[in-house]
Amino acid sequence: MAKEDYYELLSVPRNASDDEIKKSFRRLAMKYHPDRNTGNPEAEEKFKKVKEAYEILSDPKKRSAYDQFGHAGVDPSMGGGQHADFGDIFGDIFGDIFGAGGRRGGGGGRSRAQRGADLRYNLDLTLEEAVAGTDVKIRVPTYVSCVSCGGSGAKKGTSPVTCSTCQGHGAVRMQQGFFAVQQTCPACRGTGQQIKDPCGTCRGQGRVQETKTLSVKIPPGVDTGDRIRLGGEGEAGDAGGPPGDLYVQVNVKEHAIFTRDGANLYSEVPISFPVACLGGELEVPTLDGKVALKIPAETQTGKLFRMRGKGVKPVRGGPVGDLICKVHIETPVNLTREQIELIKKLDESLVGAEDTHSPQHQGWLDGVKTFFDKLGL
Ligand SMILES: [Zn+2]
Ligand SMILES: [Zn+2]
Repeated sequence: MAKEDYYELLSVPRNASDDEIKKSFRRLAMKYHPDRNTGNPEAEEKFKKVKEAYEILSDPKKRSAYDQFGHAGVDPSMGGGQHADFGDIFGDIFGDIFGAGGRRGGGGGRSRAQRGADLRYNLDLTLEEAVAGTDVKIRVPTYVSCVSCGGSGAKKGTSPVTCSTCQGHGAVRMQQGFFAVQQTCPACRGTGQQIKDPCGTCRGQGRVQETKTLSVKIPPGVDTGDRIRLGGEGEAGDAGGPPGDLYVQVNVKEHAIFTRDGANLYSEVPISFPVACLGGELEVPTLDGKVALKIPAETQTGKLFRMRGKGVKPVRGGPVGDLICKVHIETPVNLTREQIELIKKLDESLVGAEDTHSPQHQGWLDGVKTFFDKLGL
């Protein structure tokens, strides 16, 4: 199975700052931490993957190797096992989850406010749109902060009260034999607060579902797999928490004549048999109009012609790519009697003169001979 993209695993754009990466990692590590997902192998798997992704992306050297070469550049099984130190980060995480080492704010418990979820929107673009850039309007079903209660979830004029079960700690201790086990408070689900009088509009959720229309500017040069982050356009947070981000995931549709590989475009160009023999000039399409392509005499099928600067200007900068045309010689069809006679004549004139007229012939014969020799035939 193909390895998942590290940026994707950490839900960050490719140009994310170190801080963004760290933040996102902490959020995900908290979400999937085995201590919070007992008996959930999926979460554990996810946790491992997220951890590996962070290990690479938090190390500038490894990150740049990954950016350049993908997973092959940072294969954990290759090279010295320098593992990042997670001590400080996990310290922080446990601090956040379990309130180890003193709670801030004195008895208030953790805030109910939770950051909203990030959203992902899959956007299909034509190659032309991706290369030139475009403005698109997208409609995204999402949660927005409830206007009636200002996102608190409590009826207008009231506010959430400290949870009486856990006294706002968000967790309760249970005695099991010799052990005291700390569990998330069932009454407030760990928020430390309860709403006595929920807001009617959002039923105490602090947010309501809505379809947002957003304008997204697609910069020129984007490619499949690129993501555009719209900060704060994700789901509204719980109870007035900050909103998540919206990631527009770009997918470039297949094109009838061009295939793209990074900055370069590839195109197959059919040429006639006479043009292949005698040379000639033909018009080939590029993304900005037709361009003349000179075919030299004695051109073989499969030959590549590079048209400099007729490719794509990459979105992250760098030189404009090339258009690479691969010619293939087209076998003529629907021949008239007269044409067939001409071809036969040509064929007769070539028989016995392969050394002169068929540059690939001898090499092919040698290959066939070696092949049969090996088989002992
Ligand atoms: Zn409300
Ligand atoms: Zn509680």
